[in-house]
Amino acid sequence: MTRPATDRAPPGPALRPAAPRPTAWADIDLAALCHNLETLRRHLPAGKAVWGVVKADAYGHGAGRVGLALQAAGIDGLAVSAPEEGIALRRAGVERPVLVLEPALPDQTAALAAHGLTATVTSPVEAWDLAKAAGRAGWTVPVHVRVNTGFAGHGAPAATLADLLDALRHMRDLRLAGLYTHLSGSYGQGSESGGLDELARFAAAVAQADAAGLTPPSLHALSSPAVEHPAFAAAAWRAGCTAVRCGALLYGIRMVERDTAFPFLPAMTVKARVVRVATLEAGDRLRYGDTEMVKHRMRVAVLPLGFADAPHLRHAAGGGVLLHGRTAPFLGSAFMSGLLADVTAIPDVRPGDEAVLIGRQGEALLPIETVAARSGLRPSAAALLGPRVARCYRTASPGPEATP
Ligand SMILES: *Cc1c(COP(=O)(O)O)cnc(C)c1O
Repeated sequence: MTRPATDRAPPGPALRPAAPRPTAWADIDLAALCHNLETLRRHLPAGKAVWGVVKADAYGHGAGRVGLALQAAGIDGLAVSAPEEGIALRRAGVERPVLVLEPALPDQTAALAAHGLTATVTSPVEAWDLAKAAGRAGWTVPVHVRVNTGFAGHGAPAATLADLLDALRHMRDLRLAGLYTHLSGSYGQGSESGGLDELARFAAAVAQADAAGLTPPSLHALSSPAVEHPAFAAAAWRAGCTAVRCGALLYGIRMVERDTAFPFLPAMTVKARVVRVATLEAGDRLRYGDTEMVKHRMRVAVLPLGFADAPHLRHAAGGGVLLHGRTAPFLGSAFMSGLLADVTAIPDVRPGDEAVLIGRQGEALLPIETVAARSGLRPSAAALLGPRVARCYRTASPGPEATP
């Protein structure tokens, strides 16, 4: 069979052109991330440690690169949800302590121990499984006990804490390194008093460990929104907390609108290039199966990013993108891998022009918090981009018009 002339074998490596510039990508500003860590440190009382939460691929920012950047900036430890995330950090070169926030399943304990991860335990059975794996590996595994203070069933119920601490006292292959909880109440407006109750329960757990002569060195309860809240911070220090455990604010994402002066910088800007500019005529359709027609002629920019790529594009009504420093409203709803923006009012938009979906373009700004709220998402959820969106890392803040 003869091949058609156009279907040639690809050229050898020497002739292969460089990879094309991406059409959709996220600029990740590692300098902003380090700035945020420093800002946080300046705000904390002296001697408090910082655990950086890098679960879910560092909230979409890339766990390996983010973990190494935070490590280089002197973070005390990192936290992830699952052992495999911790192992990936070790493979990327992270040497700092890595706390796994969920207890390991019995078949995960050996790998957790072998990679020098720090385990969460919430029951004597979990501790026992882990101690066996630690003994076999010949390591002492550091453990943090997570205490249930009333949020989503996470952690050891208060009534079981004494037994758990007592069991740990007898497991020589485990080292009690921490005690922590996670506060629901700090994430809402108006739920603060409930959050302070949660914190009071944590203080009681710390007192219980103290009374047993087992106070671990790392005590942590505050996450991003609580760190910025004076009442939560004061109560945590009173309870003896020695560390905080933050994700969102390291990425410059505000989980709760706060009247604060902390100048956290957003670390992610989501960009795409216009792949086509088209004209819609009256009577054209915008959506699959649309019964509503376009009413008048309009110019649209086609962007190569859809609901497969950015969570906020699943329900994007009322939003838009920045083009030439102005807002081009979304038209219709996003497709799986593309979307239309109305550029009738923005002259001279051409294929190749850079659009910003999240972040800053010149003077214009689309904050991630606004983008997320418009689509009914929590702020951090808008950063969880799909795998087609390239991540481009910067170690120093570039000018606003930098390209990958
Ligand atoms: C995700 C998570 C955090 C981080 O919360 P932020 O609001 O992003 O700071 C802290 N602790 C636990 C247990 C978590 O699951």
